[in-house]
Amino acid sequence: MHKSIRSDHTTKADKLSVNQHETQHSPIWFHHEDINDTHEPQLHNLLSRSFKQWINETAHSPLSSGCFAVCDKEGRIVALNRELEVFDRDSREIAELEELALAASRADKLLESEHAIAKPIEKRSLCQVFAVLVWIPGIQLDGAQALLRAAALHLRSVFYHLFEFTYVQNLLIQQQASDKEAIRRDTLIQVAKRLHDQNDVSSVLNVLLMDLEHLYPHAKVDLYLSQDHVNGDPRVKPLLIRHAATDTYVKAFLDGKPIVEHRNDNLVELAIPMSGKQAVYGVLSITMNSEYWDDADMRALIMLSDTAGSAFENAKLFEQSNLLIGELQLINELTKRLNQSLRLNEIFEFAMTELRSIFNADFCNLLQLKKEMNTFQVVSSNLPAAVNEIYSTEYGFCGVVYETKEPLIISDYHTTRVVDSQLMDVTGSRSLIAAPIMANTEVLGVIMVSHQSPNYFSYDNYKLLQVLSTHIGLAISNASLHAAVRRMVITDNLTGLHARHYLNEQIQSRQRKDPSGSLILVDIDNFKKVNDTYGHQIGDRILIAVSDVIRSCIRESDIAARWGGEELAVYLPQIRAEQAYRIAERIRCLVEEQTEPSVTVSCGISEWIFEDEKVSVESLFYRADMALYEAKNNGRNRIFLG
Ligand code: GH3
Ligand code: MG
Ligand code: MG
Repeated sequence: MHKSIRSDHTTKADKLSVNQHETQHSPIWFHHEDINDTHEPQLHNLLSRSFKQWINETAHSPLSSGCFAVCDKEGRIVALNRELEVFDRDSREIAELEELALAASRADKLLESEHAIAKPIEKRSLCQVFAVLVWIPGIQLDGAQALLRAAALHLRSVFYHLFEFTYVQNLLIQQQASDKEAIRRDTLIQVAKRLHDQNDVSSVLNVLLMDLEHLYPHAKVDLYLSQDHVNGDPRVKPLLIRHAATDTYVKAFLDGKPIVEHRNDNLVELAIPMSGKQAVYGVLSITMNSEYWDDADMRALIMLSDTAGSAFENAKLFEQSNLLIGELQLINELTKRLNQSLRLNEIFEFAMTELRSIFNADFCNLLQLKKEMNTFQVVSSNLPAAVNEIYSTEYGFCGVVYETKEPLIISDYHTTRVVDSQLMDVTGSRSLIAAPIMANTEVLGVIMVSHQSPNYFSYDNYKLLQVLSTHIGLAISNASLHAAVRRMVITDNLTGLHARHYLNEQIQSRQRKDPSGSLILVDIDNFKKVNDTYGHQIGDRILIAVSDVIRSCIRESDIAARWGGEELAVYLPQIRAEQAYRIAERIRCLVEEQTEPSVTVSCGISEWIFEDEKVSVESLFYRADMALYEAKNNGRNRIFLG
């Protein structure tokens, strides 16, 4: 433990001494900077400026008497002091001067000609000539060479002073530019992060517009969207491709490329497409005074717009998948509930109510195809007056749906009156979605969902109705099938009358709610003989004819059934025996009249009233059977009351 404390202490002390050492020897770093090939383009400018400054500084020295020129390392004159400027550039003297300068540069030493002396100037860090100072003293001067050496040194120090100044200045400019770039990058990263944090389309757009406003407070920012989007923000506008030639944003959208336009009125107009991975969703349009615009910002703006595009796309996909999940849940729920019922009327009623609430519609009508009459009948509607209305299969929108077997969407019935529609007129509807109810390839009916506002239903609503109509179609087919099977079960095949078990059930159920009822048993007389004489087929025909007579003599609410063999039965709810007798009498007479070969029937009648001690189907049949037996015993073709 002691050891470790001691060693820590030592380390801290060592560190301290190293730091002190470093501070003491800190150099001015840019003093080591020197010119190199990269400075070549600025070299002439630097030389000429430092020459001018040097001339000023030496104005009152002995050097001021002659003419000076500073040349580059190739001997080319970069600058002259005033006296020499009057010479013709092509003159021999100039050529001589440049020749001398080049020779001095190559030799890297002071050279003298008849009129002039040239002194090469070396870089401060390397023995490399980068300029030559040439002097034409004009008058004879002692120590001219030494003077020129001093002058060259002076010029070199003026030059490096200027070089350092320019170097630091450039660094500063660079620093400022990179600071600005860093801020821009930072802002972009933050905006991108904020954009991707949003998962609904409206928030993505709000963040984008808010941040742009923050970045360019003096600009007018608009966003043109190519897709329908209700946002409420006045800056979000629909992209209408009307003036492709004149509108910059339309051009940017069509070409998928950003556009910068410097306009004559000192404004800059930018149009930047907002694209995701799958499509271009719109165009960002920014207009500002050119003093606030820096062309270097364009790259950042394009990146921002692309980020917004992909965030918009993600949000859109998220919304769509949520919608899809919602729709699936809805379909699931609806199908489950539709299939709970096997009664057609209930299904129609339930589907109508549900559809109206799903689409938040004003009206919903379900029309059923009546194939035998080639008409549609309104079987369910939230407009009571419309129920049971009948239309030709060629009329109105159900006519169109019937013919095409396709769903349809009408945005505004007032402006695009493709066909006349009484349902639309009566309800004052302007928007409509309609779909066929199909079973396999057959149209069973049509669903019409309407709203009084124009442009009310979206394309998604239209697609959803199409899916829902398929499920409603299935439920209706199921119910129809079920009804057909049930009809088969309760109907006698030969006579078309009800089956015995159905009659029993019905009598039982009526006895629970009615005050009275009568039963007539009808038996063909000597039917065995008819069969024996004419054959079974004729016998069957007679049985059918007798059934038809019975059907023609009773009400819709009475129940006629084949009780067994050639015995038929009719139950007459709420009918007393005397009236039943009259009905039986009509049957008896008509059978005799209308059968060929003619047969007769005997009938037994029984009745019940709620005051009876014991009310039952069995007793009713028993008494009717007894009466029938009496009728047979008393010569047939007659009626007895039980
Ligand atoms: P009664 O006047 O006493 O009723 O004499 P009946 O011959 O009609 O009575 P019976 O009970 O002796 O015979 C009934 C006959 O009805 C027997 C059978 O051949 C005939 N029959 C029963 N069902 C049918 C049927 O579905 N078709 C035909 N063709 N005959 C049937
Ligand atoms: Mg008989
Ligand atoms: Mg019989």
